[in-house]
Amino acid sequence: MKLLEDRIREDGTVLPGDVLKVDNFLNHQIDPDLMSAIGEEFARLFADAGVTKVLTVESSGIAPALMTGLQLHVPVIFARKHRSLTLTDNLYTATVYSYTKQVNNDISVDKRFISPDDKVLIIDDFLANGQAVQGLMEIAKAANVDIAGVGVVIEKSFKRVTKWCWTLGCTLKPWPALRH
Ligand code: 5GP
Repeated sequence: MKLLEDRIREDGTVLPGDVLKVDNFLNHQIDPDLMSAIGEEFARLFADAGVTKVLTVESSGIAPALMTGLQLHVPVIFARKHRSLTLTDNLYTATVYSYTKQVNNDISVDKRFISPDDKVLIIDDFLANGQAVQGLMEIAKAANVDIAGVGVVIEKSFKRVTKWCWTLGCTLKPWPALRH
């Protein structure tokens, strides 16, 4: 997606540990026009996949997931990383190793929000080693729902070449070219 690739080129910076910082349009400040375009693109790609819900993980997956849900006219569920008083024990849970924070997080979805007749579209902001997406897939499996597909906004393609998900803005090669 050219719009996104241009934006990564323009505003992305690389931190030590090969972390791409895009907090002026995705991870902290959010560009609604860009998110809307991303939502349209995912909705176009998965238009015929029979999606009934979009599934993501807080917090940075929420913006692209919400825009996708808006276009597909389906609810958006975000897995929560922290237990809250309102999140009871009736949960699907998976453990995910955080690429950026280097800690394990339990992510949870309330069982009330996914049922076996759902078909979920998994959306996230980044794909690095695939842990976050895998955690969401585990939750889908535990809930016995079909996965309509996986879409990530930025794939760190220097790490792997994935054939099983749609990525809109592959990070650029050679990776060091982004450093400034
Ligand atoms: P994975 O689970 O695929 O290893 O990493 C994906 C998760 O880690 C994403 O949900 C994202 O929040 C975070 N992440 C991984 N790499 C980067 C990166 O380069 N920049 C930012 N901002 N987040 C990243």
